[in-house]
Amino acid sequence: MKDKIKERKKEISRRIKEEISLITSKIKRAPVLLSVKIGEDPSSDVYRKSLFRLGQKLGIEVVLREGDEAQGKKLIEEGNRDNGIDGIIVHCLRENLLYFTQLLAPEKDVEGLSPWNLGKLIRGEDALYPATPLSVLEILDLLKFDPVGKRALIIGRSLIVGKPLFLLLLRRHATITVAHSKTRNLKELALNSELIVVAAGRAGLLKPDMVREGTLVIDVGINVVKGEIKGDVDPAVGEKAILTPVPGGVGTFTSYMLFSNLIKSMRRKIEGETGNSAI
Ligand code: NAD
Repeated sequence: MKDKIKERKKEISRRIKEEISLITSKIKRAPVLLSVKIGEDPSSDVYRKSLFRLGQKLGIEVVLREGDEAQGKKLIEEGNRDNGIDGIIVHCLRENLLYFTQLLAPEKDVEGLSPWNLGKLIRGEDALYPATPLSVLEILDLLKFDPVGKRALIIGRSLIVGKPLFLLLLRRHATITVAHSKTRNLKELALNSELIVVAAGRAGLLKPDMVREGTLVIDVGINVVKGEIKGDVDPAVGEKAILTPVPGGVGTFTSYMLFSNLIKSMRRKIEGETGNSAI
Protein backbone atom coordinates (compact mmCIF):
# COMPACT_ATOMS: atom_id res chain seq x y z
CA MET A 1 0.00 0.00 0.00
CA LYS A 2 2.89 2.37 0.75
CA ASP A 3 3.95 2.23 -2.91
CA LYS A 4 0.42 3.02 -4.11
CA ILE A 5 0.28 5.97 -1.72
CA LYS A 6 3.67 7.24 -2.94
CA GLU A 7 2.55 6.93 -6.54
CA ARG A 8 -0.65 8.90 -5.80
CA LYS A 9 1.40 11.53 -4.01
CA LYS A 10 3.51 12.00 -7.15
CA GLU A 11 0.38 12.32 -9.28
CA ILE A 12 -1.13 14.93 -6.94
CA SER A 13 2.15 16.81 -6.83
CA ARG A 14 2.33 16.88 -10.65
CA ARG A 15 -1.27 18.11 -10.89
CA ILE A 16 -0.72 20.84 -8.30
CA LYS A 17 2.48 22.03 -10.01
CA GLU A 18 0.67 22.30 -13.34
CA GLU A 19 -2.17 24.28 -11.82
CA ILE A 20 0.26 26.53 -9.95
CA SER A 21 2.18 27.34 -13.11
CA LEU A 22 -1.10 28.23 -14.89
CA ILE A 23 -2.18 30.45 -12.02
CA THR A 24 1.28 32.03 -11.74
CA SER A 25 1.31 32.93 -15.43
CA LYS A 26 -2.17 34.39 -15.10
CA ILE A 27 -1.59 36.55 -12.03
CA LYS A 28 2.14 37.19 -12.70
CA ARG A 29 3.26 36.02 -9.27
CA ALA A 30 3.41 32.82 -7.23
CA PRO A 31 0.48 31.98 -4.93
CA VAL A 32 1.13 33.04 -1.35
CA LEU A 33 0.11 31.16 1.79
CA LEU A 34 0.47 33.00 5.10
CA SER A 35 1.22 30.75 8.07
CA VAL A 36 0.48 32.50 11.37
CA LYS A 37 1.75 30.95 14.60
CA ILE A 38 0.05 32.40 17.64
CA GLY A 39 1.59 32.10 21.08
CA GLU A 40 3.57 29.08 22.18
CA ASP A 41 2.81 26.13 19.95
CA PRO A 42 6.13 24.29 19.53
CA SER A 43 4.34 21.21 18.17
CA SER A 44 3.55 23.14 14.98
CA ASP A 45 7.16 24.07 14.16
CA VAL A 46 7.98 20.87 12.28
CA TYR A 47 4.73 21.07 10.31
CA ARG A 48 5.29 24.73 9.38
CA LYS A 49 8.81 24.00 8.19
CA SER A 50 7.61 21.09 6.09
CA LEU A 51 4.83 23.25 4.57
CA PHE A 52 7.44 25.87 3.71
CA ARG A 53 9.67 23.30 1.97
CA LEU A 54 6.78 21.66 0.12
CA GLY A 55 5.59 25.10 -0.98
CA GLN A 56 9.04 25.78 -2.46
CA LYS A 57 8.88 22.51 -4.42
CA LEU A 58 5.41 23.24 -5.75
CA GLY A 59 5.93 26.91 -6.57
CA ILE A 60 3.96 28.35 -3.65
CA GLU A 61 5.40 31.03 -1.40
CA VAL A 62 4.78 30.21 2.27
CA VAL A 63 5.23 33.26 4.49
CA LEU A 64 5.94 32.34 8.12
CA ARG A 65 4.85 34.91 10.70
CA GLU A 66 4.29 34.64 14.43
CA GLY A 67 3.26 36.69 17.42
CA ASP A 68 1.32 36.76 20.67
CA GLU A 69 -2.49 36.64 20.66
CA ALA A 70 -3.02 40.33 19.89
CA GLN A 71 -0.37 40.30 17.15
CA GLY A 72 -1.78 37.05 15.77
CA LYS A 73 -5.24 38.59 15.46
CA LYS A 74 -3.73 41.58 13.67
CA LEU A 75 -1.72 39.35 11.30
CA ILE A 76 -4.89 37.43 10.36
CA GLU A 77 -6.90 40.61 9.82
CA GLU A 78 -4.15 42.17 7.70
CA GLY A 79 -3.82 38.92 5.75
CA ASN A 80 -7.58 38.94 5.10
CA ARG A 81 -7.33 42.41 3.54
CA ASP A 82 -4.06 41.90 1.67
CA ASN A 83 -4.59 41.05 -2.01
CA GLY A 84 -1.09 39.61 -2.11
CA ILE A 85 -2.06 36.86 0.37
CA ASP A 86 -4.11 34.03 -1.11
CA GLY A 87 -4.56 31.73 1.86
CA ILE A 88 -4.02 31.77 5.61
CA ILE A 89 -3.32 28.93 8.01
CA VAL A 90 -3.39 29.44 11.77
CA HIS A 91 -1.29 27.49 14.27
CA CYS A 92 -2.32 28.00 17.87
CA LEU A 93 -3.19 26.12 21.01
CA ARG A 94 -6.25 23.93 20.58
CA GLU A 95 -8.27 25.98 23.10
CA ASN A 96 -7.80 29.11 20.92
CA LEU A 97 -8.60 27.46 17.60
CA LEU A 98 -12.29 28.41 17.47
CA TYR A 99 -11.53 32.05 18.21
CA PHE A 100 -8.76 32.53 15.63
CA THR A 101 -10.34 30.49 12.84
CA GLN A 102 -13.55 32.52 13.06
CA LEU A 103 -11.49 35.60 12.14
CA LEU A 104 -10.46 34.12 8.79
CA ALA A 105 -11.91 35.39 5.53
CA PRO A 106 -13.71 32.25 4.22
CA GLU A 107 -12.02 32.37 0.81
CA LYS A 108 -8.58 32.42 2.48
CA ASP A 109 -9.41 29.74 5.04
CA VAL A 110 -7.51 26.90 3.33
CA GLU A 111 -7.95 24.64 6.36
CA GLY A 112 -11.72 24.87 6.05
CA LEU A 113 -12.25 25.61 9.75
CA SER A 114 -14.07 28.94 9.66
CA PRO A 115 -17.79 28.94 10.53
CA TRP A 116 -18.59 29.74 6.90
CA ASN A 117 -16.73 26.78 5.38
CA LEU A 118 -17.88 24.35 8.07
CA GLY A 119 -21.43 25.64 7.67
CA LYS A 120 -21.22 25.02 3.93
CA LEU A 121 -20.02 21.49 4.63
CA ILE A 122 -23.01 20.78 6.89
CA ARG A 123 -25.33 22.21 4.24
CA GLY A 124 -23.76 19.92 1.62
CA GLU A 125 -22.46 22.86 -0.40
CA ASP A 126 -19.15 23.28 -2.14
CA ALA A 127 -16.52 24.96 0.06
CA LEU A 128 -12.98 24.59 1.33
CA TYR A 129 -13.04 21.41 3.41
CA PRO A 130 -10.55 20.43 6.14
CA ALA A 131 -7.39 18.85 4.76
CA THR A 132 -7.05 15.73 6.92
CA PRO A 133 -10.57 14.39 6.20
CA LEU A 134 -9.89 15.08 2.50
CA SER A 135 -6.76 12.97 2.82
CA VAL A 136 -8.87 10.12 4.23
CA LEU A 137 -11.15 10.36 1.16
CA GLU A 138 -8.03 10.28 -1.01
CA ILE A 139 -7.08 6.95 0.62
CA LEU A 140 -10.61 5.57 0.10
CA ASP A 141 -10.43 6.49 -3.58
CA LEU A 142 -6.97 5.06 -3.93
CA LEU A 143 -8.11 1.74 -2.46
CA LYS A 144 -11.35 1.90 -4.50
CA PHE A 145 -13.38 1.59 -1.31
CA ASP A 146 -16.93 2.74 -1.95
CA PRO A 147 -18.54 3.84 1.35
CA VAL A 148 -22.15 3.68 0.06
CA GLY A 149 -24.25 1.89 2.67
CA LYS A 150 -21.18 0.70 4.59
CA ARG A 151 -21.03 0.70 8.40
CA ALA A 152 -18.27 3.18 9.22
CA LEU A 153 -16.82 4.02 12.62
CA ILE A 154 -14.88 7.22 13.22
CA ILE A 155 -12.93 7.23 16.49
CA GLY A 156 -12.43 10.87 17.50
CA ARG A 157 -14.73 13.88 17.23
CA SER A 158 -12.33 16.79 16.82
CA LEU A 159 -13.11 19.82 14.71
CA ILE A 160 -10.17 19.18 12.41
CA VAL A 161 -10.68 15.46 11.78
CA GLY A 162 -13.60 13.51 13.25
CA LYS A 163 -16.51 15.94 12.80
CA PRO A 164 -15.81 17.08 9.24
CA LEU A 165 -14.96 13.52 8.24
CA PHE A 166 -18.36 12.44 9.55
CA LEU A 167 -20.02 14.93 7.20
CA LEU A 168 -17.86 13.98 4.21
CA LEU A 169 -18.53 10.27 4.70
CA LEU A 170 -22.21 10.98 5.13
CA ARG A 171 -22.14 12.68 1.73
CA ARG A 172 -20.73 9.43 0.40
CA HIS A 173 -23.72 7.61 1.90
CA ALA A 174 -21.97 5.63 4.64
CA THR A 175 -23.83 4.78 7.85
CA ILE A 176 -21.60 6.31 10.47
CA THR A 177 -20.96 6.05 14.18
CA VAL A 178 -18.68 8.59 15.84
CA ALA A 179 -16.90 7.33 18.96
CA HIS A 180 -15.06 9.52 21.45
CA SER A 181 -13.44 9.47 24.87
CA LYS A 182 -16.76 8.82 26.64
CA THR A 183 -17.83 5.96 24.36
CA ARG A 184 -18.30 2.78 26.36
CA ASN A 185 -18.52 -0.05 23.88
CA LEU A 186 -15.71 0.76 21.45
CA LYS A 187 -14.75 -2.87 20.83
CA GLU A 188 -18.32 -3.86 20.00
CA LEU A 189 -18.72 -0.88 17.65
CA ALA A 190 -15.41 -1.58 15.96
CA LEU A 191 -16.19 -5.27 15.46
CA ASN A 192 -19.42 -4.27 13.76
CA SER A 193 -17.76 -1.88 11.28
CA GLU A 194 -16.62 -2.32 7.71
CA LEU A 195 -14.57 0.87 7.75
CA ILE A 196 -12.79 2.30 10.81
CA VAL A 197 -11.01 5.63 10.83
CA VAL A 198 -9.00 6.27 13.96
CA ALA A 199 -8.14 9.85 14.91
CA ALA A 200 -7.87 9.79 18.69
CA GLY A 201 -4.26 10.74 19.34
CA ARG A 202 -3.76 7.58 21.45
CA ALA A 203 -0.95 5.31 20.26
CA GLY A 204 -2.09 1.72 19.69
CA LEU A 205 -5.71 2.36 20.77
CA LEU A 206 -7.24 -0.02 18.23
CA LYS A 207 -6.15 -3.59 18.95
CA PRO A 208 -6.38 -6.73 16.81
CA ASP A 209 -9.22 -8.23 18.91
CA MET A 210 -11.35 -5.17 18.02
CA VAL A 211 -11.45 -5.73 14.25
CA ARG A 212 -12.84 -8.31 11.92
CA GLU A 213 -10.91 -9.92 9.09
CA GLY A 214 -10.86 -7.69 6.00
CA THR A 215 -12.05 -4.44 7.63
CA LEU A 216 -10.49 -1.31 6.16
CA VAL A 217 -8.74 0.60 8.95
CA ILE A 218 -7.44 4.09 8.27
CA ASP A 219 -4.98 5.30 10.87
CA VAL A 220 -4.88 9.08 11.13
CA GLY A 221 -2.93 9.17 14.40
CA ILE A 222 0.52 10.67 14.66
CA ASN A 223 2.00 10.13 18.11
CA VAL A 224 5.60 10.48 19.15
CA VAL A 225 6.45 7.62 21.50
CA LYS A 226 10.06 7.43 22.72
CA GLY A 227 11.17 9.47 19.73
CA GLU A 228 9.32 7.28 17.22
CA ILE A 229 6.18 8.08 15.24
CA LYS A 230 3.32 5.72 16.06
CA GLY A 231 -0.23 5.58 14.80
CA ASP A 232 -3.45 5.16 16.79
CA VAL A 233 -3.68 1.57 15.62
CA ASP A 234 -1.66 -1.36 16.93
CA PRO A 235 0.37 -2.50 13.88
CA ALA A 236 -0.72 -6.11 14.58
CA VAL A 237 -4.19 -5.05 13.33
CA GLY A 238 -2.60 -5.12 9.86
CA GLU A 239 -2.43 -8.94 10.06
CA LYS A 240 -6.24 -9.13 9.99
CA ALA A 241 -7.40 -5.88 8.48
CA ILE A 242 -6.34 -3.66 5.61
CA LEU A 243 -4.41 -1.03 7.53
CA THR A 244 -2.92 2.23 6.29
CA PRO A 245 0.66 2.80 7.44
CA VAL A 246 1.95 5.45 9.85
CA PRO A 247 4.06 7.19 8.76
CA GLY A 248 3.46 7.10 5.02
CA GLY A 249 -0.36 6.95 5.11
CA VAL A 250 -2.96 9.69 5.58
CA GLY A 251 -0.27 12.20 6.58
CA THR A 252 1.28 11.89 3.12
CA PHE A 253 -1.61 13.80 1.60
CA THR A 254 -2.54 16.38 4.24
CA SER A 255 -0.28 19.24 3.11
CA TYR A 256 -1.16 18.56 -0.52
CA MET A 257 -4.87 18.85 0.33
CA LEU A 258 -4.16 22.19 1.97
CA PHE A 259 -2.41 23.45 -1.16
CA SER A 260 -5.25 22.02 -3.29
CA ASN A 261 -7.62 24.18 -1.27
CA LEU A 262 -5.40 27.20 -1.96
CA ILE A 263 -5.58 26.48 -5.69
CA LYS A 264 -9.33 25.91 -5.56
CA SER A 265 -9.87 29.25 -3.89
CA MET A 266 -7.56 31.07 -6.32
CA ARG A 267 -9.19 29.49 -9.37
CA ARG A 268 -12.57 30.63 -8.13
CA LYS A 269 -11.29 34.16 -7.66
CA ILE A 270 -9.64 34.30 -11.08
CA GLU A 271 -12.64 32.75 -12.84
CA GLY A 272 -14.90 35.19 -11.01
CA GLU A 273 -12.81 38.13 -12.21
CA THR A 274 -12.21 36.98 -15.79
CA GLY A 275 -15.21 34.71 -16.42
CA ASN A 276 -12.60 32.28 -17.80
CA SER A 277 -13.27 28.72 -16.71
CA ALA A 278 -10.27 27.35 -18.63
CA ILE A 279 -7.83 28.16 -15.82
P1 NAD B 1 -7.90 15.73 19.39
O1 NAD B 1 -7.11 15.50 20.63
O2 NAD B 1 -8.39 17.07 19.07
O3 NAD B 1 -9.16 14.75 19.40
C1 NAD B 1 -9.04 13.42 19.78
C2 NAD B 1 -10.41 12.79 19.78
O4 NAD B 1 -10.27 11.43 20.13
C3 NAD B 1 -11.36 13.42 20.78
O5 NAD B 1 -12.60 13.64 20.15
C4 NAD B 1 -11.50 12.37 21.87
O6 NAD B 1 -12.82 12.32 22.40
C5 NAD B 1 -11.19 11.07 21.12
N1 NAD B 1 -10.60 10.07 21.98
C6 NAD B 1 -9.53 10.22 22.80
N2 NAD B 1 -9.30 9.07 23.48
C7 NAD B 1 -10.21 8.19 23.06
C8 NAD B 1 -10.50 6.85 23.39
N3 NAD B 1 -9.76 6.18 24.28
N4 NAD B 1 -11.54 6.25 22.78
C9 NAD B 1 -12.28 6.90 21.86
N5 NAD B 1 -12.06 8.18 21.51
C10 NAD B 1 -11.04 8.81 22.11
O7 NAD B 1 -6.99 15.12 18.22
P2 NAD B 1 -7.00 15.45 16.64
O8 NAD B 1 -6.43 16.76 16.41
O9 NAD B 1 -8.30 15.08 16.04
O10 NAD B 1 -5.91 14.39 16.16
C11 NAD B 1 -6.08 13.00 16.35
C12 NAD B 1 -4.83 12.29 15.91
O11 NAD B 1 -4.65 12.50 14.52
C13 NAD B 1 -3.55 12.81 16.58
O12 NAD B 1 -2.66 11.73 16.75
C14 NAD B 1 -3.00 13.78 15.56
O13 NAD B 1 -1.60 13.93 15.66
C15 NAD B 1 -3.38 13.08 14.28
N6 NAD B 1 -3.49 13.95 13.12
C16 NAD B 1 -2.94 13.51 11.98
C17 NAD B 1 -3.06 14.25 10.83
C18 NAD B 1 -2.47 13.70 9.57
O14 NAD B 1 -2.31 14.42 8.61
N7 NAD B 1 -2.20 12.40 9.50
C19 NAD B 1 -3.72 15.47 10.83
C20 NAD B 1 -4.31 15.91 12.01
C21 NAD B 1 -4.20 15.12 13.15
